[in-house]
Amino acid sequence: MATLTSLAPVPRLVAAPARRLRPALWHLGAVVLIWATSLFVLALWVSGAGVQSLLAVDGDTLTTLGRLTGLVSANLLLYQVLLMARVPVFERGFGRDAMTRLHRLVGFWSFWLLLAHLVLITVGYAITAHANVLVQAWDFIWDYPGMLLATAGTGLLILVVVTSMRRSRRRLRYESWHLLHLYGYLGVGLSIPHMLWTGADFTASVGATFYWWALWAVTAACVLWFRVAMPLIRSARHGLRVVDVRADGQDGIAVRVAGRDVHRLGARAGQFFIWRFLDGPGWTRGHPFSLAADPAGDELTIAARRVGDGTDRLAELRPGTRVMVEGPYGHMTGERRTGSRLLMLGAGAGVAPLVALLESEPYAPGEAILVTRDHSASHGLRRTEIDRLAVERGLVHYTLPGRRATSGTSWVPATHAQWDGAQLLQRIAGDLSLYDVYLCGPIPWMQSIRQDLRTAGVAAERIHSEAFAV
Ligand SMILES: Cc1cc2nc3c(=O)[nH]c(=O)nc-3n(C[C@H](O)[C@H](O)[C@H](O)COP(=O)(O)OP(=O)(O)OC[C@H]3O[C@@H](n4cnc5c(N)ncnc54)[C@H](O)[C@@H]3O)c2cc1C
Repeated sequence: MATLTSLAPVPRLVAAPARRLRPALWHLGAVVLIWATSLFVLALWVSGAGVQSLLAVDGDTLTTLGRLTGLVSANLLLYQVLLMARVPVFERGFGRDAMTRLHRLVGFWSFWLLLAHLVLITVGYAITAHANVLVQAWDFIWDYPGMLLATAGTGLLILVVVTSMRRSRRRLRYESWHLLHLYGYLGVGLSIPHMLWTGADFTASVGATFYWWALWAVTAACVLWFRVAMPLIRSARHGLRVVDVRADGQDGIAVRVAGRDVHRLGARAGQFFIWRFLDGPGWTRGHPFSLAADPAGDELTIAARRVGDGTDRLAELRPGTRVMVEGPYGHMTGERRTGSRLLMLGAGAGVAPLVALLESEPYAPGEAILVTRDHSASHGLRRTEIDRLAVERGLVHYTLPGRRATSGTSWVPATHAQWDGAQLLQRIAGDLSLYDVYLCGPIPWMQSIRQDLRTAGVAAERIHSEAFAV
């Protein structure tokens, strides 16, 4: 392990050849898919005389705006579900962090558009029919096909949105929030019949009806296939079982899992799975854990910090326990590297995927630096593996233990509070332009480093990260 003051300047190296083509193509594919179908939805509205109705300046104007907001809301709702359905094109195109952000953004937009749809359609119809707005709303609910179901669905979507707002999210246990969130699927499902039975833009032409049915069917199929069937099939095919459980640092646990042809899962260092250990009641609750060792061969290793029921339970696992996995997910892999050197910064359990990457990536002695941030040295995970990498591969390891600083740069401990974050990074790595930087840890911690890296001139595409939070 090295100290900051003993750091010797490192020689300049030529950048490694780019290995980014595949992720870039996936990203392009995902973006094209979203835009193409969004434009198609807009075209459906235009072909249904949407623009002419808009210019009428009467009840029809509101109704057609209501139809447009409804269409866009339905389309976004679809993407919202697709974004979390683990569809490879989205998984590889965006990566989990970006997808979670997008899912949240799309979710709120689709919700506000849904509310606008309800108000505009009701007021528009009431004006055209010279009826009271409340009477019109009542008429919709009771007399239009599928509207009772849609009302129940809207209620569930409201529940999901309210519990996802930051203030209420913070007050809820993860399990409660997740369970309520799952009701969103039911909410979406209950809203579908009214769209297909009464929505003018859905029934206007055979093409439109076919498009929407196909889209909803594809979404449902993706959820069922990628989130249910595929994990079941894969887990059965590979017959994964726990082979070893041991302590990792003061409050960590490392679990090794093996099975048949595990290498065919195609997992790469830096990725994670959602794990279910079939050790008794409660096994259905999956937990995401990153690979903590290079997944070469037919073994997978995770290392977790004990923070609650799910992680405590890992310590009780017995060899032979069957394991179900969903994944591999995540794109914080070596494929994204374009520089010749590696700077890895991990806080707490965030060090686990970084160690896996350091085990699998090519680099010469002195070309890779790992900075770990923990409460104390004894809290650190993967210390044995880090020490081995230092001896065998010339990894340079710095520790930043201790309490958080109350002022200054927030990613360093109080002991380094006098340092400017960007300067500290330059002091650690020298010429940052040679490096790909990998970050893993709590979101605010990573945001703070990212800011300092950008200040120090590191290009955004050279910074790769995975947040251990949803
Ligand atoms: C992509 C990803 C990779 C991760 N990799 C690792 C790893 O390699 N090592 C490690 O120690 N931790 C990792 N985590 C965090 C780990 O999943 C949680 O610490 C764990 O699920 C906590 O469960 P618990 O029941 O012990 O604690 P709880 O007391 O239930 O929760 C503690 C914290 O973990 C969060 N959490 C709980 N359950 C889940 C869940 N199913 N999904 C997401 N967050 C949850 C809660 O919001 C809470 O903030 C990762 C998280 C993500 C999102």
